[in-house]
Amino acid sequence: MILLDGKNVAKERNLALKENIETYTKTHREPQLAIILIGDNPASISYVTGKGKACKLVGIKHILHHLEDTVTEDEVASLIENLNQDDSIDGILLQLPIPKHLNDSKLIDMISRDKDADGFHVVNQGYLYQKKPTIYPATPKGIISLLEHYNIQISSKHAVIVGRSNIVGFPVARLLMDRGATITVCHRQTKDLSYHTKQADIIIASAGTPLLIKKEMVKEGAIVVDVGVNRLEGKLVGDVCFDEVKEVASYLSPVPGGVGPMTINALLENTFELYLKHIKV
Ligand code: NAP
Repeated sequence: MILLDGKNVAKERNLALKENIETYTKTHREPQLAIILIGDNPASISYVTGKGKACKLVGIKHILHHLEDTVTEDEVASLIENLNQDDSIDGILLQLPIPKHLNDSKLIDMISRDKDADGFHVVNQGYLYQKKPTIYPATPKGIISLLEHYNIQISSKHAVIVGRSNIVGFPVARLLMDRGATITVCHRQTKDLSYHTKQADIIIASAGTPLLIKKEMVKEGAIVVDVGVNRLEGKLVGDVCFDEVKEVASYLSPVPGGVGPMTINALLENTFELYLKHIKV
């Protein structure tokens, strides 16, 4: 089994990005990402801290707007509007999940689509589904970069995606289909999950259900990408039983150290892409 080592691949890509940014900042301002964090969810704080550190590493300035969890929707909307108007800001990220009294999709769609670093804006997703150039959602983009790094052929493979969310499952299905894969998308109403996963050449496990994918659900030689991030008995685990599945998979991504770092790299690359548009080169 070959480990899909997202940690190292992201490191390599971040280094290349850093060099690329340095060439532009000799003559232009620095790229800048605004991060909005609402409340004190420990996982969100840790994600935001990680994203901030990664920005620093590659030369992207970042500014954190940490709001109380009692903030009103109007207050968040007004902050987003100010950031939309601010010419020194290239990307805006609203860290999810946000408190239940706030409408996440409404707020995401208020972010200018030219500053949508996460690629979640309804118009950008529309472009993606119509196969037009746009900012891709960070996790699906990171997954594709990871597969491409290992020269894994996607065309003509059968990819089974477990999960149909707007931020992972559905867009990754689209990106894999665009690269020639035949797609099956599974979800909670899927009758026999195992029947589908057993036929897969590529499994993308993005259910958010700890250790859902067992060895007997995976075909010999399959490529398995574990997107899940779950806490189980104080430990971080994915959606895949790593120790079992490594015996049958040809490639397998670990948790942590797989898709997570690739997602952050994709976010940085998206911010840079938006920056290039803003400085008009
Ligand atoms: P989500 O919005 O909760 O979606 C989960 C999807 O999985 C839903 O479509 C759900 O089906 C399906 N599902 C859940 N349990 C299932 C089961 N037992 N059998 C079949 N389908 C099942 O989650 P998400 O935002 O897509 O995230 C998925 C996971 O990826 C989470 O663990 C999240 O933390 C992780 N994640 C990691 C990164 C990273 O950078 N590593 C980034 C984003 C997300 P229904 O639609 O029928 O409910």
